[in-house]
Amino acid sequence: MSGVESRDEQLFLKLADIEFKKKFLDNPFGYACSICDWLWFKNELKDISKVGINNIFRNTLIDTFQNKDIQNFMFAARAKLL
Ligand SMILES: [Zn+2]
Repeated sequence: MSGVESRDEQLFLKLADIEFKKKFLDNPFGYACSICDWLWFKNELKDISKVGINNIFRNTLIDTFQNKDIQNFMFAARAKLL
């Protein structure tokens, strides 16, 4: 270990730093998916009113969550139900 980093290594470390910051520090964890209640990073959740869901999925949600306003649902694209 010389302690001297090449330019590539320095660039890599810088990018890794930015990526880490973007992924973890600017992206709080602990947001519940409206569908499965699992906790996710904030940027993993999608606003259901902003993504297209088909009628079958919409009707399933309406049936399953009869007392909830599914228009306000936030769900994880990786949620098991999808
Ligand atoms: Zn989910």
